[in-house]
Formats: sequence, C-alpha cells, structure tokens
Amino acid sequence: MLVSIDSAIDSVIDDANAELRKLSLAIHNNPEESLKEEQACQTLVDYLERKGFKVERNVAGLSTAFVATYVSPSGAQGLNVGFCSEYDALPGIGHGCGHNLIAISGVALFLAIARVMEACWIPGTVKLFGTPAEEAFGGKITMLDQGTFDGTDLLMMLHPTAGYSGAWHSQCCLSLDVEYFGKASHAAMAPWDGINAGTAANIALLTMGALREQLKPDWRTHGIIAEGGRAANVIPDYAKIKYTIRTGWANELDILRERTLRVFEAAALATGCTHKVTEEFAYLDNLDNPVLGGLYEELMQSEYRVPPERGVGGSTDFGNLSHKFISLHGMYDLAGTRVPNHTIEFTRDARSEEAHERTLFAAKTAGRVAARCLVDQSFWSQVKKAHDERRQQTSGDREM
Ligand SMILES: [Zn+2]
Ligand SMILES: [Zn+2]
Repeated sequence: MLVSIDSAIDSVIDDANAELRKLSLAIHNNPEESLKEEQACQTLVDYLERKGFKVERNVAGLSTAFVATYVSPSGAQGLNVGFCSEYDALPGIGHGCGHNLIAISGVALFLAIARVMEACWIPGTVKLFGTPAEEAFGGKITMLDQGTFDGTDLLMMLHPTAGYSGAWHSQCCLSLDVEYFGKASHAAMAPWDGINAGTAANIALLTMGALREQLKPDWRTHGIIAEGGRAANVIPDYAKIKYTIRTGWANELDILRERTLRVFEAAALATGCTHKVTEEFAYLDNLDNPVLGGLYEELMQSEYRVPPERGVGGSTDFGNLSHKFISLHGMYDLAGTRVPNHTIEFTRDARSEEAHERTLFAAKTAGRVAARCLVDQSFWSQVKKAHDERRQQTSGDREM
C-alpha cells in the first residue's frame, strides 16, 4: 500500500475544502423546503459530474433525489458503502438544522472513500445518496421502499448539533393532521347557532398538554394550530392541527398513538364537531451500532478532549434505514456554542467558518471508520455481529 488510508482521506478532503465551502454557502444562501430542493440538488449533481462521477437523477420518483456511484478500479467485489447527503431547509428559519453541512459532509465522505479505493487498491463500490425532504415527509423512506439502497453493506451520514455522539438513539415519530369540521355563524348575533371548530382545536392542544404529565421521559408530543378560523367575528367552521408524537422505541408508538387519538376525538365530542385524522409520515428510531459508533467517538474524543453526549430527542428518516442496514449516524458539534437545532441562531452558525472546519473534521473521522470496515475483516465481523444483536433486541418492534 503506497498511500496510507488516513493521508488519502485527509488530502482529498483538504484539496476540496474551498469547493465544499462554496457548495455549502450556495445551499445555505438559498434555503429550499422539503421536496423543493431543486437548486441544492442541481448544485451537488453538477459538482459531482464535473468531478467525473456517474450520477443518476430523479431517483425513486423524487425529482430532488440522486445517486452518485464510483466503482473501484480494483473491482466491485468488496463492500458496497453508501453515504447520505441532506439539503432541505425549514420553513421560516432556513438552514436551522445545518443540512447545507450534511450535504457537503456526504460529498466529502464520498470523495474520500473513492480516493481510498483508488489509491490503496481496495475493491468495492461507494455511493452518495442525495436524500431530500428529511424535515417533512422522509425522502429516505420512499427511496428505501423503491429499492434505492438495495445491495448496500454499510450506510453512514453525519449531522451537526451541540456535542458529538456515535450512539444517537433517535425517537420514533408519527406526524398527524387533525381536521375539525363545525358550523359557521355570526359570533355576536347568533353564536349559539355555530359549532366552533377553533374551540375543538384549542381543547385538543390543551388536553394533550395535560396528558403530558403521564408520559415517559423520552416521549414527546407537540403541535400547532395550522388553521383556526379567519375572522374574530365568525365562529370558525374549520380548524386544522399539525401534530407530532414521539417515543423512544417503536413498540411504544402505538400506545401513545391510541391515547392521542382519544384526545382528538374527545375535543370533537365536547364541541359537537366532526373530525378527521390523517397520518402524514412515520420515522423509526435510529439503531446505533456500538462498534462503529465506538470507534467514531474514540477518534472524536482524541481531538476534542470532552466526552460524547447522548441526548434524547429528535427523529430522522435515517432511522428507517438503520433497521435494515448496518449504519452509523454520527453527530458532531456545530460550533461549540450549545445552540439547539431548529433555531435562527443555529442557522447563523451553520454558515460559519468554524462549523465548516468541524464538518470536514467529522467527515475525516467518519471516513476513517468507513475505511476500517473496508480493510479490517475482524473489525467488520464485529460490526455485523453488533448490528444483528441490536436488531434482535428490537425484534418485537413494529414495521413501518
Ligand atoms: Zn431538523
Ligand atoms: Zn436535521
């Protein structure tokens, strides 16, 4: 082996540093919400094609999904490794989850492992999956259902947050739309003739607040009134709630779902409205792999000198992939500022030089973990064993 793996990873990411910064800022400057990430997708695909990679667009029927593929010059008979890039933004606050950085960390990892395969004569295939709509809907689930990830041996992605971790056990989540149908009336001349759909929505949210007292520590319920009437002097005949429920484990989600549906029904009963519940999308919990995550954390700790943080909270459509594929969802510290995701301050930090450098360091670290799987048979056996054990622990979980 003429070139060391670590130096191959570092040099390709360092060489691409300025280009990756440009990609990240282009995506950050033009935030596009889920399934509307046309420019971000185009920017990434153009870059990969300019680099000479084969890229398939419009994957799984999603116009903003893509797959880039590189087959080692030594042949495809080794591992099939995949990385995920996300690039959707949040309504109102732009890249408050730092998906511009997830986009470039995926590109950096793809370039690094392609270079390792080429320079170190390692057979295998590496793919970059451009996965849209993580913040709403879950593009990865559509791609999973359509077979886009079939044949993958190892899947990885990185996500910025406060603190780092290779063992993020994310929450299962279910998103619901709840509609209440009442009867409009003049709010002063004949309020007794109306059936107030806005009141039903209010009762539903207040009762969910009361229910929260008896929920487990790793369960979450939260939502908004998306439509609650149009004028103060009209009894609203229609109201709509957008609501999300989350649990630590998949087999708990049905329990919370039943209790939540009873509350929504009670609000209809109390007000005389009719109601309709539509289940929008569901994410499974992320099954961490202690061997992959352990090496990731060990390498991160040797740089940052602080222990990993295993916070509870948040969900990802990568969770659905983790139940099928050996995977690592690596978290890293965005900027050392302790700012939570989904805030305007996180949006600001996601374009900083510091966040960029930390993203590239996390990519170099995850690249070392992926490369270890490629070259160390006994490590790879441990990784597979850990995955099987984790799956057995959760075998009673529901499929989604
Ligand atoms: Zn987010
Ligand atoms: Zn995110």
